[in-house]
Amino acid sequence: MTPAGPRVTPAGPRAGLCESCAHRQLVRNTRGSEFTLCRRSRTEPERFPRYPRLPVTRCAGYERAAGRA
Ligand code: SF4
Repeated sequence: MTPAGPRVTPAGPRAGLCESCAHRQLVRNTRGSEFTLCRRSRTEPERFPRYPRLPVTRCAGYERAAGRA
């Protein structure tokens, strides 16, 4: 059975497109684990999950963050 809730965010490029996306927000829990939160989920939750399944390889909402490779 797959656990519900946010997934631990791999560090570096294993997060896929989210790694360089302007809409990514890293959140950290009290144990120091990091998660990728998609800020687009706030305005378009039907299109973008709050915690996307990583790595994201295709995403209609992707926009490269300024200064990211
Ligand atoms: S818009 Fe797509 S690529 Fe960007 S953070 Fe959300 S899920 Fe990741």
